[in-house]
Amino acid sequence: MVLTHVKELVEQNAQKYESYGLTASVFSAGLNKKELDQQVTFASVQSLARNLDKLNTFYSLIIIDECHRVSTAQDSQYMQVISCLKRYNPKLMLLGLTATPYRLGHGWIYREHYHGFIRGEEGSPFAKCIYELPLRYMISNQYLTPPNKLDPAIEHYDFSSLATDSLGRYSESDMNNLLNSHTRATKSIIEHILVQAESRRGVMIFAATVMHAKEIVSYLPVNETELVIGDTENKQRDNIIARFKSKEIKFLVNVSVLTTGFDAPHVDFIAILRPTESVSLYQQIVGRGLRLDEGKDDCLIIDYAGNDFDLFHPEVGAKKPNSDSEPVQVLCPGCGFANTFWGKLDEQGKVVEHYGRRCQGVLEDEVDGESMQCDFRFKFKECSHCGAENDIAARQCHSCGEIMADPDDKLRDALNLKSALVLRCCGMTAEVIKPQVLKVTYFDEDGADVSEVYDFTNKGSRYYFHRNFAKRLKSGSAVGEWKNVEEVNITLLSPPDFVIAKQHKKYGWQISDKLFDYDGSYRVADKS
Ligand SMILES: [Zn+2]
Ligand SMILES: [Zn+2]
Repeated sequence: MVLTHVKELVEQNAQKYESYGLTASVFSAGLNKKELDQQVTFASVQSLARNLDKLNTFYSLIIIDECHRVSTAQDSQYMQVISCLKRYNPKLMLLGLTATPYRLGHGWIYREHYHGFIRGEEGSPFAKCIYELPLRYMISNQYLTPPNKLDPAIEHYDFSSLATDSLGRYSESDMNNLLNSHTRATKSIIEHILVQAESRRGVMIFAATVMHAKEIVSYLPVNETELVIGDTENKQRDNIIARFKSKEIKFLVNVSVLTTGFDAPHVDFIAILRPTESVSLYQQIVGRGLRLDEGKDDCLIIDYAGNDFDLFHPEVGAKKPNSDSEPVQVLCPGCGFANTFWGKLDEQGKVVEHYGRRCQGVLEDEVDGESMQCDFRFKFKECSHCGAENDIAARQCHSCGEIMADPDDKLRDALNLKSALVLRCCGMTAEVIKPQVLKVTYFDEDGADVSEVYDFTNKGSRYYFHRNFAKRLKSGSAVGEWKNVEEVNITLLSPPDFVIAKQHKKYGWQISDKLFDYDGSYRVADKS
């Protein structure tokens, strides 16, 4: 049983299968077919979910195309079909295919990768990724057309100042406001596109909003341009796509409807005028132009929205934290696994900063042989009861079960206290003031500072220094033990986000708490 969510894909897949001289059934209301008599059926999940009573037989395998749409909610259409077929075969196998295994806000579609690392949460729709075909491989082995990326030397949009929702998306009104103040940019971008398109056969333009798309269309030749948006009626949409595929029209403008599964092999120019939230979405859009076609040598890719993704970047699985971050490799000091996180490199290619939280390596439990995620954390909140390291967003200690103090409560309490000082820390310095005595000073954006002293000849003092800083090195590496002050490389230490100090009658401000890896609602200082 081959399932997918749109009739175009049902038809496309069935045709591909039959091109091998095989016969398949097709079950899709949109295609006016309700057949189930062949060994292999291509079906739309909506049609099948409405006809569960007809699914009264044994299937050994379900294949889901574009499987990132599968939700584990029991009442979802995919789950209805799956549990129905499981009644006839408890050992039913499920295989998913997708080019976007990770989506912002939804996370990874699978739990474990076949190279031995954890990606998704427990309870992800799929247990294991069993095979991955990187874009680079597909292009160098001529399964896909090489992309030809051109940097437009003209004004482009910058969406990066806008706020995003939990799915990493911008609101339509925010984007419209920004675009409204850039109407000259849109006009000159389209002029640029028209010049570049002269030697091209099919041009797909990805717009940010419906209003934006309509403006774009108004600058393009009327007889050669069509627009597809979410509200476009099916019949009209089919007609437009058919005319585009037969090259009657050259420019196809769309607003987030033709990103996946759309297949027009002659497309040889992709113009991106919208923000893309993740590497894989960017790759999906570009992928619309990489199909092989006769007489097509490359596909021109122009990103007018400053998305700045590398087509061959691995998916990091987190929102890009800022525009100058890139995927970096961080070896886990615990298990040695090479993690890919967002981060920054120096000129020698060394990691100087990264945004990873927890190692993604897989370890096998020595007792029951089950695989589990490595417990090493690069950023963590320490439990004040047992000292265990927890995720920075944890509310309850995973080790002792105690409720963890909310850093926001600590800050609020300190801010309400006259005798307390809260320093929004943006950096730190350290100097050796006596042999083996280190004075560490934390300062804020306005230049205020507080300091504390660590005496390395004192075991307890050395221990506290180690506990604060050793596991949070900017490079992601770990320190065995600092025995003396000279071994400490201050430039690699991560400063806390907040320092709380209390007024002491005799000694002035004394640091009472430091909040590292803060993940709450107060603003943190820019440390770059
Ligand atoms: Zn590890
Ligand atoms: Zn604990």
